[in-house]
Amino acid sequence: MRVQSVAMVLGRTIHLYGASRERFLSDVSWMRHEACHVKQYQQLGFYGFLWKYLAQYLRNGYYNNELEVAARASEGDPDILNDIEIV
Ligand SMILES: [Zn+2]
Repeated sequence: MRVQSVAMVLGRTIHLYGASRERFLSDVSWMRHEACHVKQYQQLGFYGFLWKYLAQYLRNGYYNNELEVAARASEGDPDILNDIEIV
């Protein structure tokens, strides 16, 4: 998440608020971050992800949410976008 720009992943779709598609696609670390959330959905299932995200959020807040910690770690991972298709 960036100040004034929000991306929200629901299943396989990244929803952008306050940011254009072009800006999102020009920010590699941001794309990697959200791609990690897409993979988390794939691993946990749609409701599994939302449930875990909510539980983590209530327990740890946004920054220390396990799913956010993993997504931030992915920002430096050049391989994470390999099997992601931008449509
Ligand atoms: Zn995130």
